[in-house]
Amino acid sequence: MQKQALSILKSIFGYDSFRGQQAAIIDHIVRGKDALVLMPTGGGKSICFQIPAMLKDGLAVVISPLIALMQDQVITLNELGIKAAALNSSLSAQQQRDIARDLMAGKIKFLYVAPERLVQERMLSFLQHLPIALFAIDEAHCVSQWGHDFRPEYLQLGQLAKLFGDVPRVALTATADTRTQQEIVDKLQLHQAKTFVASFDRPNIFYRIQSKEQPRKQLLNFLIDKKEVAGIVYCMSRKRVEETAAFLCSQGYNALPYHAGLSSEIRNTNQQRFINEEGIIMVATIAFGMGIDKPNVRFVAHLDLPKSLEAYYQETGRAGRDGLPSEAWMVYGLQDVLLNQQLIVQSEASEQHKKVELYKLQAMLALCEETRCRRQVLLAYFDEVLAEPCGYCDNCRDNVQTWDATEAARKALSAIYRTGQRYGVGHLVDVLLGRGTDKVRELGHQYLSVFGIGKQITEKTWRTLFRQLIIRNLVTIDLEGFSGLRLTDNCRAVLRGEEKLQLRVDQIPKLDKPRTVIHHVREDEKKLWEALRTLRRRLAEEHNVPPYVIFHDATILEMLRLKPRTLGDMAMINGIGSHKLENYGPAFLEVINGEQSVSDSRARDIQYEIIALARAGMVVEQIAHKLNCTSRVVYRALAEAISQQQLSLEQALDLPEDLLDRIRHSFLEEEYKLASVPKVYKQLGGEVEEGVLYCVHSALADIFG
Ligand code: ADP
Ligand code: ZN
Repeated sequence: MQKQALSILKSIFGYDSFRGQQAAIIDHIVRGKDALVLMPTGGGKSICFQIPAMLKDGLAVVISPLIALMQDQVITLNELGIKAAALNSSLSAQQQRDIARDLMAGKIKFLYVAPERLVQERMLSFLQHLPIALFAIDEAHCVSQWGHDFRPEYLQLGQLAKLFGDVPRVALTATADTRTQQEIVDKLQLHQAKTFVASFDRPNIFYRIQSKEQPRKQLLNFLIDKKEVAGIVYCMSRKRVEETAAFLCSQGYNALPYHAGLSSEIRNTNQQRFINEEGIIMVATIAFGMGIDKPNVRFVAHLDLPKSLEAYYQETGRAGRDGLPSEAWMVYGLQDVLLNQQLIVQSEASEQHKKVELYKLQAMLALCEETRCRRQVLLAYFDEVLAEPCGYCDNCRDNVQTWDATEAARKALSAIYRTGQRYGVGHLVDVLLGRGTDKVRELGHQYLSVFGIGKQITEKTWRTLFRQLIIRNLVTIDLEGFSGLRLTDNCRAVLRGEEKLQLRVDQIPKLDKPRTVIHHVREDEKKLWEALRTLRRRLAEEHNVPPYVIFHDATILEMLRLKPRTLGDMAMINGIGSHKLENYGPAFLEVINGEQSVSDSRARDIQYEIIALARAGMVVEQIAHKLNCTSRVVYRALAEAISQQQLSLEQALDLPEDLLDRIRHSFLEEEYKLASVPKVYKQLGGEVEEGVLYCVHSALADIFG
């Protein structure tokens, strides 16, 4: 079985080997058993049910919550030469009848269907009359009432267990937490299923989190090397989305807005453009993302703080599905903390629920202030242990600076206490710095013992410190009043000197920060890269599919590096199965070989010109000058022309007779054999240029060779 599975992987999908637990999962399902597959985005879940389905007779029914997701998978399969169809509300009655007819004739291997459609009685009884290979329940976390993506229709999928007792079912999700996992098992009746949990690490994503100073400037700096790549910039409000998109456009980026306030028409157009074009930046609220399968999203930037680590992981996870280097970048500041806390506190939710939300926000903030490896901390939150620091996040790379803030924190806490626990950060900083503002004088705060005790520390550091005190919950904000700060019980240990406080120094974003990733295409490869992508775009338009369905970037990149010359070479490239090889191989070969023959023919043209100019009596320097090339190139061309007998030595070079004699003599020093050019060069004491020697060597080789 393994052998057949591997052969399908190779011949149809064009991949060399299985990743992670794919082989084990496939094996398990082929044996007719149920499975629950937990794997991160981009981990390769689809193959886990697609290959078993192909190894078995009958129809594979795939349940998916979104039309966009279904469509994407259906065209991807069709492009691989596999018959797949989706039943959804966008089809006409006639189209639906056609699909039903094909299903009965056994002409369709994969049927994608929305849960509410599947559980209709007519649909179920129709399916009961067909041979079914398996059921795959994609995005299975939609069954969880506690998750963001709850879909009541998913609850009804449990009945498949009874109705199709002997058909294996596999549920798949990229949501990791154990509670959701348990819910999936319960609600979908998967008690017999074996659970496969992959690592949730996304090793190709580089994480960077900075404090928010000048967000626009910071964003531009981050985007410096990202003009030609696709990415998402998340903002909290519609207004910020609009402003940021306009700003990026004014800076020469191809940016589009997306939020729930736009008409569905605009949203659709923008989403389609993001999917089908290259190099578009989507500036969006979190309304954007679910159902976007675009594999080559190269970065996700957050201008505002997500409300939990779950949200952060999910949103940043939209980068780099194709496994190529990608970046997750975020800026955050005190305002984010206040705003998020306020939203929670002022919401209608129950006290219990608010507590959970605040706790989740706290975990998000802790990641921001973290001084250890971000990936270790992020994964630990999802109960996964990463043994070593990753070496691929800002904290691992940049050598985070910390400082002993115990003393400063005590001063800050005292300032809060002495001023009566009712003022915000701005006023407290004024007091600490000893500024005689109107407010200070009005309140008589210049007479307090804490007035001016913090002059040795800058305003910026004080603000950072207050932010960190709030995040560490040593201080709370009065969210219902005027955002005054208050001490919490947690601050006692610090005040008493029982606990030290080691805080992160905010890195001032440097303009010349070392570039982390992205530039996987070298300058000298750009031309062919663009040519290949242009071809891909054209084919995508012709076939009415997104470019990545034709070939992934990773596949194009391999073509670029390996420069296949034949279809046989082409078949060795990852991501090119037999169907795509046949359909697209020749067109891509033509571009690759065309590029090569263009450069070959350009070299030939120069060769002809050099010969012509030499025949016309020009000397080497003149030719080089005229053709704008080095004299080395000219000498090499002349030597070549001499050995091809297209040119005589006399035509090529104008050498004094006695010098030519000496050179000849040196070459002929040894019996029966010409001396080598470097040797003669040395012998003549470097007096004669090597290029000249090569020409003479060619002429002599003609006679003696
Ligand atoms: P998920 O559904 O888990 O987000 P997909 O099934 O879409 O992930 O797979 C992500 C990408 O990885 C796809 O482009 C897929 O073709 C590719 N992929 C999956 N398995 C392999 C493999 N064994 N070798 C190489 N690429 C793979
Ligand atoms: Zn790290």
